[in-house]
Amino acid sequence: MTELQTAPPEDAEARRAIAPVICYPNDTLPHIDLPAYQAALTTAEVTDTCLIPPRDARCFEAPAGSFVRITSVDGPQVGDLNLWNAQDLSERFYSGKTRALHGSHVNLGDRLWSSFPHLRPMASVVQDSLDWYGIDEFGGSVHDVIGTRCDPYTHNLLAGDHYHYCCHSNLIRALADHLGIAAEDAEPHVHDVLNVFMCTGFTRDTGQYFMKASPVRPGDSLTLFAEIPLLGALSACPGGDCSSEHSSDTAACHPLKVEVLTPDPDSLSGWWTSPPRNGYNRSHGL
Ligand SMILES: [Zn+2]
Repeated sequence: MTELQTAPPEDAEARRAIAPVICYPNDTLPHIDLPAYQAALTTAEVTDTCLIPPRDARCFEAPAGSFVRITSVDGPQVGDLNLWNAQDLSERFYSGKTRALHGSHVNLGDRLWSSFPHLRPMASVVQDSLDWYGIDEFGGSVHDVIGTRCDPYTHNLLAGDHYHYCCHSNLIRALADHLGIAAEDAEPHVHDVLNVFMCTGFTRDTGQYFMKASPVRPGDSLTLFAEIPLLGALSACPGGDCSSEHSSDTAACHPLKVEVLTPDPDSLSGWWTSPPRNGYNRSHGL
């Protein structure tokens, strides 16, 4: 820590003792009917499967009203997830606003929100076999929306060399391949991720972002419900379970499985409709 340049005021302790208030109380968000989603999930059948190779990424598409299940196979592995509106790539997952609304890690019943001006639920978290983990004694938890993604630019900044299989590059290659476009055209679409299965937090003493071995075991899964038509890309992070380092080929890495599941349409009728775009009139005071 650098030397203090400003003397604390006399009432410094009293100021520190002020209780926090939640920035975005989220009890006015539309209610999520988890039992209804979970009942629909029991009717769903796998209609598409994709295996993500270690240190690589793949795209998948999930129609509105379907489920996306991400499963750990073979060994502990974290995944970096990007989501777009399959019909409009300018609408994409907004990890920062999801964090502001739900917290640093997403839990059962949370929504994954889309970017401005859309700001609507893209997906809902309807099943999580790591929901038992909670928040550990270090402040760590799973499925964070803080870590952005490992990328070759930060790695070059810190280590000075060139590593090509960071999640950022993996997602670029997957999207470029899926859309049939050049890597430089795919790169601007790649955005801050949901870190599936990753166990992270902030150190209490310095506030630094930390990671630790993910508690994920083969067979563990996270299931999202596609509220709008989704194009997704998932990278099997070169950090493996992220217990030591990423942005290199040293960590043990494993595949991840993505399945798209289609429920019986009757299981959604009467209670679910794809959410409309955000209601703000966009006049911005003009
Ligand atoms: Zn990564």
